[in-house]
Amino acid sequence: MTEIDYQFIAKRRAQKRQEYLKHRNAYLRRAKVYYQKNKQKCKTQAIKWNREHPRRRKEIISKYRQKNIFQTRKKAEQLRFINKDEYNKYARDRYAKRKLIVMMHYSKNGKCQCCGESTIEFLTIDHITQRKLLNHLRGFSGRKLYDWLIQNNFPDGFQVLCFNCNFAKWKMGRCPHQRVVIT
Ligand SMILES: [Zn+2]
Ligand SMILES: [Zn+2]
Repeated sequence: MTEIDYQFIAKRRAQKRQEYLKHRNAYLRRAKVYYQKNKQKCKTQAIKWNREHPRRRKEIISKYRQKNIFQTRKKAEQLRFINKDEYNKYARDRYAKRKLIVMMHYSKNGKCQCCGESTIEFLTIDHITQRKLLNHLRGFSGRKLYDWLIQNNFPDGFQVLCFNCNFAKWKMGRCPHQRVVIT
């Protein structure tokens, strides 16, 4: 069995890096010329590499983004501005989809647990135990809350109420719908 000499490999790698840094500009110039001459080949190779190393690719991209966070943000902002309508539509669709997922999870057939209201625009997520107890959820509502619930695999302690019932519960501690009717 041959043992791998990691120290040697690391040393060699560092040497190569030094060499590269010394002649960086010349190297980049040459690489550019090569790319111009062999565009198609480079592209297919890149696509192939990306497909074979999806995890490494993700790492590289996120590292790049972190390093260039200002440019990344600026670019994203510009793109959002240029494709405003498209972006807004995407955001709306995503919101609607996620809201539906959450509502279906925390209710029977997407209805208010109290009065049975089923118009999705009227439905909200109610913290069964008071919001105060869930400190980390303070200020969470709408999109953020739905994202959080999905990310955390739908924790217990939530139910679907319509705006009316939710408001009544919050204001009076109990919805008027829940008055016991004796006939
Ligand atoms: Zn209701
Ligand atoms: Zn009610």
